[in-house]
Amino acid sequence: MFNIVSELEFALPEGRVLSDPESLIVYGYDGATAVTGAPEAVVNVRSEEEAVTVLRLAEAHGTPVFPRGAGSGLAGGSIPQGGIALNFAAMNHILEIDTESLMAVVEPGVVTADFQAAVEALGLFYPPDPASLKQSTLGGNASTGAGGPRCLKYGTTREYVRGMHAVLPGGMVLRVGGKYLKSATGYNLSQLFVGSEGTLGAITQLTLRLIPKPPAVGTLLALFDRLEDAAALVTRILGAGILPSVLEFMDKPCIGCIEQVSKLGLPADVDALLLIECDGNPVAVDAELARIATLCTEGGARRVDRATDEEAREQLWKARRSVSPSLSRLRPAKLGEDVSLPRASIVPMVRRIQQIAQEFDVLLPTFGHIGDGNLHPNLVFDPRDAAEMRRVEKAAEALIRAAVELGGTLSGEHGIGLLKKALLPLAVPADNLAIYTRLKQVFDPSGIMNPGKVFG
Ligand SMILES: Cc1cc2nc3c(=O)[nH]c(=O)nc-3n(C[C@H](O)[C@H](O)[C@H](O)COP(=O)(O)OP(=O)(O)OC[C@H]3O[C@@H](n4cnc5c(N)ncnc54)[C@H](O)[C@@H]3O)c2cc1C
Repeated sequence: MFNIVSELEFALPEGRVLSDPESLIVYGYDGATAVTGAPEAVVNVRSEEEAVTVLRLAEAHGTPVFPRGAGSGLAGGSIPQGGIALNFAAMNHILEIDTESLMAVVEPGVVTADFQAAVEALGLFYPPDPASLKQSTLGGNASTGAGGPRCLKYGTTREYVRGMHAVLPGGMVLRVGGKYLKSATGYNLSQLFVGSEGTLGAITQLTLRLIPKPPAVGTLLALFDRLEDAAALVTRILGAGILPSVLEFMDKPCIGCIEQVSKLGLPADVDALLLIECDGNPVAVDAELARIATLCTEGGARRVDRATDEEAREQLWKARRSVSPSLSRLRPAKLGEDVSLPRASIVPMVRRIQQIAQEFDVLLPTFGHIGDGNLHPNLVFDPRDAAEMRRVEKAAEALIRAAVELGGTLSGEHGIGLLKKALLPLAVPADNLAIYTRLKQVFDPSGIMNPGKVFG
Protein backbone atom coordinates (compact mmCIF):
# COMPACT_ATOMS: atom_id res chain seq x y z
CA MET A 1 0.00 0.00 0.00
CA PHE A 2 2.86 2.37 0.82
CA ASN A 3 4.14 2.07 -2.78
CA ILE A 4 0.87 3.02 -4.41
CA VAL A 5 0.32 5.96 -2.04
CA SER A 6 3.70 7.44 -2.91
CA GLU A 7 3.15 6.75 -6.64
CA LEU A 8 -0.27 8.46 -6.47
CA GLU A 9 1.23 11.43 -4.63
CA PHE A 10 3.86 11.69 -7.33
CA ALA A 11 1.41 11.32 -10.26
CA LEU A 12 -1.39 13.61 -9.00
CA PRO A 13 -1.48 17.33 -8.10
CA GLU A 14 -0.57 18.16 -4.52
CA GLY A 15 -3.24 17.60 -1.88
CA ARG A 16 -5.28 15.01 -3.78
CA VAL A 17 -4.10 12.03 -1.67
CA LEU A 18 -4.89 11.78 2.05
CA SER A 19 -3.46 9.03 4.20
CA ASP A 20 -3.20 10.43 7.72
CA PRO A 21 -5.49 8.50 10.12
CA GLU A 22 -7.60 11.56 11.15
CA SER A 23 -8.53 12.37 7.53
CA LEU A 24 -9.50 8.78 6.79
CA ILE A 25 -12.05 8.33 9.60
CA VAL A 26 -15.10 9.87 7.87
CA TYR A 27 -14.62 7.74 4.76
CA GLY A 28 -15.29 4.60 6.79
CA TYR A 29 -18.99 5.44 7.17
CA ASP A 30 -22.06 6.09 5.06
CA GLY A 31 -25.80 6.38 5.79
CA ALA A 32 -26.00 2.69 6.78
CA THR A 33 -24.76 3.00 10.31
CA ALA A 34 -24.80 -0.78 10.85
CA VAL A 35 -21.69 -1.32 8.65
CA THR A 36 -18.35 0.49 8.79
CA GLY A 37 -14.85 0.12 7.39
CA ALA A 38 -11.67 2.10 6.77
CA PRO A 39 -9.60 2.99 3.71
CA GLU A 40 -5.81 3.12 3.71
CA ALA A 41 -5.87 6.25 1.56
CA VAL A 42 -8.38 8.67 0.05
CA VAL A 43 -7.98 10.28 -3.34
CA ASN A 44 -10.10 13.37 -4.01
CA VAL A 45 -10.07 13.41 -7.81
CA ARG A 46 -10.91 16.58 -9.73
CA SER A 47 -10.93 15.27 -13.31
CA GLU A 48 -11.44 12.16 -15.40
CA GLU A 49 -7.70 12.09 -16.13
CA GLU A 50 -6.98 11.89 -12.40
CA ALA A 51 -9.46 8.99 -12.04
CA VAL A 52 -7.66 7.25 -14.94
CA THR A 53 -4.36 7.64 -13.08
CA VAL A 54 -5.83 6.14 -9.91
CA LEU A 55 -7.37 3.15 -11.68
CA ARG A 56 -4.25 2.52 -13.78
CA LEU A 57 -2.01 2.43 -10.69
CA ALA A 58 -4.55 0.51 -8.62
CA GLU A 59 -4.78 -2.23 -11.26
CA ALA A 60 -0.98 -2.42 -11.48
CA HIS A 61 -0.70 -2.82 -7.70
CA GLY A 62 -3.83 -4.98 -7.24
CA THR A 63 -5.16 -2.36 -4.81
CA PRO A 64 -8.94 -2.27 -4.20
CA VAL A 65 -10.77 0.96 -5.09
CA PHE A 66 -14.02 2.10 -3.45
CA PRO A 67 -15.85 4.86 -5.38
CA ARG A 68 -17.68 7.42 -3.26
CA GLY A 69 -20.04 10.32 -3.87
CA ALA A 70 -21.52 11.94 -0.76
CA GLY A 71 -21.53 8.77 1.36
CA SER A 72 -25.28 9.07 1.94
CA GLY A 73 -25.93 5.52 0.72
CA LEU A 74 -28.08 3.33 2.95
CA ALA A 75 -26.49 -0.03 2.09
CA GLY A 76 -22.81 0.49 2.91
CA GLY A 77 -22.00 0.56 -0.84
CA SER A 78 -19.13 3.04 -0.54
CA ILE A 79 -17.61 1.63 2.66
CA PRO A 80 -13.94 0.74 2.04
CA GLN A 81 -12.29 -2.38 3.38
CA GLY A 82 -8.70 -1.10 3.17
CA GLY A 83 -7.53 0.14 -0.25
CA ILE A 84 -8.40 3.52 -1.76
CA ALA A 85 -11.58 5.53 -1.25
CA LEU A 86 -12.00 7.25 -4.64
CA ASN A 87 -13.92 10.38 -3.78
CA PHE A 88 -15.81 12.18 -6.56
CA ALA A 89 -17.34 14.94 -4.42
CA ALA A 90 -15.00 17.61 -5.85
CA MET A 91 -15.83 16.70 -9.48
CA ASN A 92 -18.98 18.78 -9.19
CA HIS A 93 -19.38 20.81 -12.37
CA ILE A 94 -22.43 20.95 -14.57
CA LEU A 95 -20.70 20.85 -17.96
CA GLU A 96 -23.70 21.66 -20.15
CA ILE A 97 -27.46 22.14 -20.05
CA ASP A 98 -28.70 21.77 -23.62
CA THR A 99 -32.11 23.46 -23.61
CA GLU A 100 -32.81 22.38 -27.19
CA SER A 101 -32.05 18.66 -26.85
CA LEU A 102 -33.29 18.68 -23.22
CA MET A 103 -30.13 16.97 -22.02
CA ALA A 104 -27.46 17.84 -19.47
CA VAL A 105 -23.86 16.67 -19.18
CA VAL A 106 -22.50 16.62 -15.64
CA GLU A 107 -19.59 15.48 -13.53
CA PRO A 108 -20.48 12.74 -11.01
CA GLY A 109 -20.01 14.84 -7.86
CA VAL A 110 -22.76 17.37 -8.64
CA VAL A 111 -25.21 17.43 -5.71
CA THR A 112 -28.70 16.34 -6.82
CA ALA A 113 -30.53 19.39 -5.44
CA ASP A 114 -27.99 21.81 -6.99
CA PHE A 115 -28.59 20.18 -10.36
CA GLN A 116 -32.36 20.37 -9.96
CA ALA A 117 -32.16 24.07 -9.07
CA ALA A 118 -29.93 24.79 -12.08
CA VAL A 119 -32.26 23.12 -14.60
CA GLU A 120 -35.41 24.54 -12.97
CA ALA A 121 -33.98 28.05 -13.38
CA LEU A 122 -34.15 27.34 -17.13
CA GLY A 123 -37.75 26.08 -16.99
CA LEU A 124 -36.65 22.43 -17.12
CA PHE A 125 -37.14 19.53 -14.73
CA TYR A 126 -35.04 16.62 -13.45
CA PRO A 127 -37.49 14.50 -11.45
CA PRO A 128 -35.43 11.90 -9.46
CA ASP A 129 -35.61 13.22 -5.89
CA PRO A 130 -34.15 10.98 -3.18
CA ALA A 131 -34.95 12.46 0.24
CA SER A 132 -31.17 12.92 0.60
CA LEU A 133 -31.11 15.24 -2.44
CA LYS A 134 -29.35 18.05 -0.61
CA GLN A 135 -26.38 15.73 0.07
CA SER A 136 -26.38 12.92 -2.51
CA THR A 137 -24.45 13.18 -5.80
CA LEU A 138 -25.63 12.37 -9.31
CA GLY A 139 -22.84 9.77 -9.62
CA GLY A 140 -24.08 8.09 -6.43
CA ASN A 141 -27.68 8.32 -7.68
CA ALA A 142 -26.76 6.64 -10.97
CA SER A 143 -24.67 3.97 -9.24
CA THR A 144 -27.49 3.05 -6.85
CA GLY A 145 -30.37 3.60 -9.30
CA ALA A 146 -31.77 6.11 -6.79
CA GLY A 147 -35.47 6.80 -6.67
CA GLY A 148 -37.59 9.07 -4.50
CA PRO A 149 -41.19 10.22 -4.13
CA ARG A 150 -41.67 11.44 -7.70
CA CYS A 151 -40.78 8.08 -9.25
CA LEU A 152 -44.42 6.98 -9.36
CA LYS A 153 -45.05 9.28 -12.31
CA TYR A 154 -41.55 9.97 -13.58
CA GLY A 155 -39.42 6.86 -12.92
CA THR A 156 -36.06 6.53 -11.17
CA THR A 157 -32.58 7.82 -12.08
CA ARG A 158 -32.35 4.88 -14.50
CA GLU A 159 -34.95 6.51 -16.76
CA TYR A 160 -32.83 9.69 -17.04
CA VAL A 161 -29.33 8.32 -17.69
CA ARG A 162 -28.73 8.47 -21.45
CA GLY A 163 -24.98 8.12 -21.48
CA MET A 164 -21.81 8.15 -19.41
CA HIS A 165 -18.06 7.96 -19.19
CA ALA A 166 -16.77 5.26 -16.87
CA VAL A 167 -13.15 4.54 -16.06
CA LEU A 168 -12.38 0.83 -15.84
CA PRO A 169 -9.62 -0.82 -13.80
CA GLY A 170 -6.40 -0.31 -15.78
CA GLY A 171 -7.52 3.17 -16.87
CA MET A 172 -9.58 2.56 -20.03
CA VAL A 173 -12.38 5.16 -20.41
CA LEU A 174 -15.63 3.62 -21.59
CA ARG A 175 -17.76 6.23 -23.43
CA VAL A 176 -21.36 5.18 -24.02
CA GLY A 177 -24.61 6.80 -25.12
CA GLY A 178 -25.13 10.49 -25.77
CA LYS A 179 -27.64 13.31 -25.95
CA TYR A 180 -30.16 11.26 -27.93
CA LEU A 181 -33.33 9.66 -26.60
CA LYS A 182 -33.48 6.44 -28.58
CA SER A 183 -30.87 3.86 -29.36
CA ALA A 184 -31.08 0.35 -30.74
CA THR A 185 -27.35 0.29 -31.35
CA GLY A 186 -25.97 -2.71 -29.54
CA TYR A 187 -25.89 -3.46 -25.82
CA ASN A 188 -26.93 -0.60 -23.54
CA LEU A 189 -23.83 -0.46 -21.35
CA SER A 190 -24.78 2.72 -19.49
CA GLN A 191 -27.91 0.97 -18.20
CA LEU A 192 -25.70 -1.88 -16.98
CA PHE A 193 -23.72 0.63 -14.93
CA VAL A 194 -26.89 2.17 -13.42
CA GLY A 195 -27.40 0.37 -10.11
CA SER A 196 -24.04 -1.47 -10.33
CA GLU A 197 -22.89 0.26 -7.11
CA GLY A 198 -19.35 0.97 -8.26
CA THR A 199 -18.53 -2.69 -8.87
CA LEU A 200 -17.80 -2.36 -12.62
CA GLY A 201 -15.99 0.96 -12.95
CA ALA A 202 -15.97 4.59 -11.82
CA ILE A 203 -18.44 6.98 -13.45
CA THR A 204 -16.72 10.24 -14.42
CA GLN A 205 -19.42 11.86 -16.55
CA LEU A 206 -23.19 11.48 -17.01
CA THR A 207 -25.56 12.56 -19.76
CA LEU A 208 -29.00 13.08 -18.22
CA ARG A 209 -32.38 13.55 -19.85
CA LEU A 210 -34.48 16.56 -18.82
CA ILE A 211 -38.16 17.30 -19.32
CA PRO A 212 -40.16 20.54 -19.29
CA LYS A 213 -41.03 21.76 -15.78
CA PRO A 214 -44.71 21.17 -14.98
CA PRO A 215 -46.38 24.59 -14.65
CA ALA A 216 -48.33 23.77 -11.47
CA VAL A 217 -48.11 21.43 -8.50
CA GLY A 218 -50.55 20.84 -5.63
CA THR A 219 -50.21 18.83 -2.43
CA LEU A 220 -52.65 16.99 -0.16
CA LEU A 221 -52.18 15.46 3.26
CA ALA A 222 -54.70 12.75 4.19
CA LEU A 223 -54.91 11.23 7.68
CA PHE A 224 -56.35 7.75 8.28
CA ASP A 225 -57.57 5.88 11.36
CA ARG A 226 -56.80 2.53 9.73
CA LEU A 227 -53.46 1.82 8.11
CA GLU A 228 -55.06 -0.57 5.65
CA ASP A 229 -57.44 2.13 4.40
CA ALA A 230 -54.47 4.34 3.54
CA ALA A 231 -52.73 1.47 1.73
CA ALA A 232 -55.89 0.63 -0.22
CA LEU A 233 -56.19 4.21 -1.53
CA VAL A 234 -53.36 3.63 -4.02
CA THR A 235 -55.50 1.32 -6.15
CA ARG A 236 -58.55 3.60 -5.84
CA ILE A 237 -56.64 6.69 -7.04
CA LEU A 238 -54.91 4.95 -9.94
CA GLY A 239 -58.18 3.15 -10.75
CA ALA A 240 -59.86 6.56 -11.09
CA GLY A 241 -57.48 7.30 -13.99
CA ILE A 242 -55.26 9.68 -12.01
CA LEU A 243 -51.48 9.34 -11.94
CA PRO A 244 -50.22 11.53 -9.06
CA SER A 245 -46.58 12.61 -9.17
CA VAL A 246 -46.25 11.60 -5.50
CA LEU A 247 -48.05 9.08 -3.28
CA GLU A 248 -46.15 8.71 -0.03
CA PHE A 249 -47.11 6.72 3.04
CA MET A 250 -46.20 6.89 6.73
CA ASP A 251 -47.43 4.77 9.64
CA LYS A 252 -48.17 5.87 13.21
CA PRO A 253 -44.66 5.60 14.73
CA CYS A 254 -43.21 7.58 11.79
CA ILE A 255 -45.90 10.26 12.21
CA GLY A 256 -45.01 10.51 15.92
CA CYS A 257 -41.31 10.99 15.08
CA ILE A 258 -41.80 13.68 12.42
CA GLU A 259 -44.29 15.50 14.65
CA GLN A 260 -41.59 15.79 17.33
CA VAL A 261 -39.20 17.27 14.76
CA SER A 262 -41.48 19.48 12.67
CA LYS A 263 -44.50 20.32 14.88
CA LEU A 264 -47.03 20.12 12.05
CA GLY A 265 -49.87 19.58 14.51
CA LEU A 266 -50.53 16.00 13.42
CA PRO A 267 -52.88 14.16 15.82
CA ALA A 268 -51.10 11.50 17.88
CA ASP A 269 -53.82 8.90 17.38
CA VAL A 270 -53.95 8.60 13.55
CA ASP A 271 -52.76 5.29 12.17
CA ALA A 272 -51.35 6.42 8.81
CA LEU A 273 -50.95 9.36 6.48
CA LEU A 274 -50.67 9.81 2.76
CA LEU A 275 -48.82 12.72 1.16
CA ILE A 276 -50.16 13.13 -2.36
CA GLU A 277 -49.06 15.48 -5.11
CA CYS A 278 -50.30 16.14 -8.64
CA ASP A 279 -48.50 18.29 -11.16
CA GLY A 280 -49.16 19.59 -14.68
CA ASN A 281 -51.70 22.01 -16.08
CA PRO A 282 -53.13 24.11 -13.18
CA VAL A 283 -56.78 23.36 -14.05
CA ALA A 284 -56.08 19.62 -14.28
CA VAL A 285 -54.11 19.69 -11.00
CA ASP A 286 -57.04 21.30 -9.16
CA ALA A 287 -59.54 18.83 -10.63
CA GLU A 288 -57.35 15.81 -9.82
CA LEU A 289 -56.68 16.91 -6.25
CA ALA A 290 -60.41 17.53 -5.66
CA ARG A 291 -61.20 14.02 -6.94
CA ILE A 292 -58.44 12.47 -4.83
CA ALA A 293 -59.71 14.32 -1.72
CA THR A 294 -63.17 12.80 -2.33
CA LEU A 295 -61.68 9.33 -2.83
CA CYS A 296 -59.73 9.69 0.43
CA THR A 297 -62.83 10.74 2.37
CA GLU A 298 -64.89 7.91 0.86
CA GLY A 299 -62.00 5.53 1.61
CA GLY A 300 -61.96 6.30 5.35
CA ALA A 301 -59.73 9.40 5.70
CA ARG A 302 -60.40 11.30 8.93
CA ARG A 303 -59.03 14.56 7.50
CA VAL A 304 -57.77 15.77 4.12
CA ASP A 305 -55.85 19.07 3.95
CA ARG A 306 -54.48 20.85 0.91
CA ALA A 307 -51.26 22.87 1.23
CA THR A 308 -52.49 26.41 0.63
CA ASP A 309 -49.19 27.92 -0.52
CA GLU A 310 -45.57 27.07 -1.34
CA GLU A 311 -44.48 27.65 2.26
CA ALA A 312 -47.01 25.12 3.58
CA ARG A 313 -45.97 22.66 0.86
CA GLU A 314 -42.28 23.08 1.72
CA GLN A 315 -43.09 22.45 5.40
CA LEU A 316 -44.74 19.16 4.51
CA TRP A 317 -41.75 18.13 2.41
CA LYS A 318 -39.30 19.10 5.13
CA ALA A 319 -41.24 16.84 7.48
CA ARG A 320 -41.36 14.00 4.92
CA ARG A 321 -37.61 14.21 4.35
CA SER A 322 -36.94 14.18 8.07
CA VAL A 323 -38.69 10.85 8.62
CA SER A 324 -35.65 8.59 8.17
CA PRO A 325 -33.26 10.53 10.49
CA SER A 326 -36.08 11.24 12.99
CA LEU A 327 -36.49 7.51 13.70
CA SER A 328 -33.41 7.77 15.92
CA ARG A 329 -35.88 9.14 18.50
CA LEU A 330 -37.19 5.58 18.90
CA ARG A 331 -33.90 3.66 19.15
CA PRO A 332 -30.23 4.57 18.57
CA ALA A 333 -29.75 2.35 15.48
CA LYS A 334 -31.81 1.23 12.50
CA LEU A 335 -31.79 -1.27 9.71
CA GLY A 336 -33.75 0.32 6.89
CA GLU A 337 -35.35 -2.12 4.49
CA ASP A 338 -36.35 -1.13 0.95
CA VAL A 339 -38.68 -3.81 -0.40
CA SER A 340 -40.25 -3.34 -3.82
CA LEU A 341 -43.58 -5.02 -4.54
CA PRO A 342 -46.24 -5.34 -7.19
CA ARG A 343 -48.95 -2.79 -6.36
CA ALA A 344 -51.43 -5.61 -5.80
CA SER A 345 -49.25 -6.83 -2.92
CA ILE A 346 -49.08 -3.54 -1.01
CA VAL A 347 -51.97 -4.23 1.36
CA PRO A 348 -50.89 -7.86 2.07
CA MET A 349 -47.30 -6.63 2.67
CA VAL A 350 -48.46 -3.96 5.11
CA ARG A 351 -50.29 -6.73 7.03
CA ARG A 352 -47.20 -8.96 6.95
CA ILE A 353 -45.06 -6.12 8.32
CA GLN A 354 -47.43 -5.77 11.27
CA GLN A 355 -47.37 -9.55 11.88
CA ILE A 356 -43.55 -9.66 11.72
CA ALA A 357 -43.28 -6.79 14.24
CA GLN A 358 -45.48 -8.78 16.65
CA GLU A 359 -43.94 -12.20 16.03
CA PHE A 360 -40.34 -11.02 16.61
CA ASP A 361 -41.21 -8.36 19.18
CA VAL A 362 -39.45 -5.59 17.26
CA LEU A 363 -40.22 -1.95 16.48
CA LEU A 364 -40.90 -1.66 12.77
CA PRO A 365 -41.95 1.88 11.75
CA THR A 366 -42.75 1.94 8.04
CA PHE A 367 -42.88 4.65 5.43
CA GLY A 368 -42.32 4.69 1.71
CA HIS A 369 -43.20 5.39 -1.85
CA ILE A 370 -46.39 3.37 -1.65
CA GLY A 371 -47.60 4.52 -5.08
CA ASP A 372 -44.84 2.58 -6.79
CA GLY A 373 -44.89 -0.32 -4.33
CA ASN A 374 -41.62 0.61 -2.61
CA LEU A 375 -41.87 0.36 1.19
CA HIS A 376 -39.23 1.17 3.82
CA PRO A 377 -39.94 -0.90 6.95
CA ASN A 378 -37.27 0.24 9.42
CA LEU A 379 -36.06 -2.10 12.13
CA VAL A 380 -35.01 0.26 14.93
CA PHE A 381 -33.00 -1.19 17.80
CA ASP A 382 -30.38 -0.70 20.47
CA PRO A 383 -27.12 -2.37 19.37
CA ARG A 384 -26.14 -2.84 23.03
CA ASP A 385 -29.09 -5.20 23.49
CA ALA A 386 -27.86 -8.54 22.11
CA ALA A 387 -31.25 -10.24 22.42
CA GLU A 388 -32.96 -7.43 20.51
CA MET A 389 -30.25 -7.61 17.81
CA ARG A 390 -30.95 -11.33 17.29
CA ARG A 391 -34.70 -10.65 16.95
CA VAL A 392 -33.97 -7.83 14.49
CA GLU A 393 -31.84 -10.11 12.28
CA LYS A 394 -34.59 -12.73 12.18
CA ALA A 395 -37.24 -10.08 11.46
CA ALA A 396 -35.11 -8.66 8.60
CA GLU A 397 -34.93 -12.06 6.97
CA ALA A 398 -38.67 -12.62 7.48
CA LEU A 399 -39.40 -9.26 5.81
CA ILE A 400 -37.41 -10.12 2.70
CA ARG A 401 -38.92 -13.61 2.53
CA ALA A 402 -42.41 -12.06 2.77
CA ALA A 403 -41.66 -9.53 0.00
CA VAL A 404 -40.33 -12.25 -2.30
CA GLU A 405 -43.30 -14.54 -1.57
CA LEU A 406 -45.59 -11.65 -2.51
CA GLY A 407 -43.85 -11.28 -5.89
CA GLY A 408 -41.50 -8.48 -4.87
CA THR A 409 -37.79 -8.04 -4.34
CA LEU A 410 -35.16 -7.02 -1.80
CA SER A 411 -34.34 -3.45 -2.84
CA GLY A 412 -36.22 -0.87 -4.88
CA GLU A 413 -33.73 2.01 -4.73
CA HIS A 414 -31.08 1.78 -1.99
CA GLY A 415 -29.05 -1.08 -3.47
CA ILE A 416 -27.38 -4.06 -1.82
CA GLY A 417 -23.89 -2.83 -0.86
CA LEU A 418 -22.49 -4.62 2.17
CA LEU A 419 -25.61 -4.43 4.29
CA LYS A 420 -27.97 -6.56 2.21
CA LYS A 421 -25.43 -8.84 0.55
CA ALA A 422 -26.14 -11.87 2.73
CA LEU A 423 -29.85 -11.65 1.89
CA LEU A 424 -29.39 -11.28 -1.89
CA PRO A 425 -29.72 -15.04 -2.60
CA LEU A 426 -33.26 -14.85 -1.14
CA ALA A 427 -34.24 -12.57 -4.04
CA VAL A 428 -31.93 -13.52 -6.91
CA PRO A 429 -31.63 -17.08 -8.28
CA ALA A 430 -28.18 -18.74 -8.12
CA ASP A 431 -27.97 -18.87 -11.94
CA ASN A 432 -28.42 -15.10 -12.14
CA LEU A 433 -25.74 -14.58 -9.50
CA ALA A 434 -23.36 -16.69 -11.60
CA ILE A 435 -24.04 -14.36 -14.56
CA TYR A 436 -23.34 -11.34 -12.30
CA THR A 437 -19.92 -12.83 -11.49
CA ARG A 438 -19.09 -13.37 -15.16
CA LEU A 439 -20.23 -9.86 -16.09
CA LYS A 440 -18.06 -8.33 -13.38
CA GLN A 441 -15.05 -10.29 -14.66
CA VAL A 442 -15.49 -8.69 -18.11
CA PHE A 443 -15.10 -5.16 -16.71
CA ASP A 444 -12.95 -5.88 -13.69
CA PRO A 445 -10.95 -9.10 -14.26
CA SER A 446 -8.70 -8.57 -11.23
CA GLY A 447 -11.61 -7.78 -8.92
CA ILE A 448 -10.40 -4.41 -7.59
CA MET A 449 -13.63 -2.40 -8.12
CA ASN A 450 -15.53 -2.09 -4.86
CA PRO A 451 -14.77 -5.71 -3.94
CA GLY A 452 -17.07 -7.51 -1.52
CA LYS A 453 -20.09 -5.41 -2.44
CA VAL A 454 -23.45 -6.66 -3.73
CA PHE A 455 -22.46 -10.31 -4.31
CA GLY A 456 -19.55 -12.74 -4.25
C1 LIG B 1 -31.86 10.68 5.00
C2 LIG B 1 -31.68 9.86 3.75
C3 LIG B 1 -32.73 9.73 2.86
C4 LIG B 1 -32.57 8.98 1.69
N1 LIG B 1 -33.62 8.89 0.81
C5 LIG B 1 -33.49 8.21 -0.33
C6 LIG B 1 -34.57 8.12 -1.26
O1 LIG B 1 -35.64 8.70 -1.07
N2 LIG B 1 -34.38 7.40 -2.38
C7 LIG B 1 -33.19 6.76 -2.65
O2 LIG B 1 -33.05 6.13 -3.70
N3 LIG B 1 -32.15 6.83 -1.78
C8 LIG B 1 -32.27 7.52 -0.65
N4 LIG B 1 -31.22 7.58 0.24
C9 LIG B 1 -29.99 6.82 -0.04
C10 LIG B 1 -28.84 7.59 -0.76
O3 LIG B 1 -28.92 8.98 -0.57
C11 LIG B 1 -28.83 7.24 -2.25
O4 LIG B 1 -28.47 5.88 -2.38
C12 LIG B 1 -27.86 8.08 -3.09
O5 LIG B 1 -28.02 7.72 -4.44
C13 LIG B 1 -26.39 7.90 -2.70
O6 LIG B 1 -25.65 8.94 -3.30
P1 LIG B 1 -24.20 9.31 -2.74
O7 LIG B 1 -23.63 10.35 -3.63
O8 LIG B 1 -24.27 9.64 -1.31
O9 LIG B 1 -23.44 7.94 -2.99
P2 LIG B 1 -22.50 7.11 -1.99
O10 LIG B 1 -23.24 6.75 -0.75
O11 LIG B 1 -21.22 7.81 -1.83
O12 LIG B 1 -22.28 5.80 -2.88
C14 LIG B 1 -23.34 4.95 -3.16
C15 LIG B 1 -22.87 3.84 -4.12
O13 LIG B 1 -22.50 4.39 -5.37
C16 LIG B 1 -21.14 4.13 -5.68
N5 LIG B 1 -20.62 5.34 -6.34
C17 LIG B 1 -20.71 6.62 -5.90
N6 LIG B 1 -20.17 7.45 -6.83
C18 LIG B 1 -19.73 6.68 -7.85
C19 LIG B 1 -19.09 6.94 -9.09
N7 LIG B 1 -18.78 8.17 -9.50
N8 LIG B 1 -18.78 5.88 -9.90
C20 LIG B 1 -19.09 4.62 -9.54
N9 LIG B 1 -19.70 4.31 -8.37
C21 LIG B 1 -20.01 5.34 -7.55
C22 LIG B 1 -20.47 3.81 -4.35
O14 LIG B 1 -19.35 2.95 -4.51
C23 LIG B 1 -21.62 3.12 -3.62
O15 LIG B 1 -21.69 1.76 -4.01
C24 LIG B 1 -31.34 8.33 1.42
C25 LIG B 1 -30.27 8.46 2.32
C26 LIG B 1 -30.43 9.21 3.47
C27 LIG B 1 -29.26 9.34 4.40
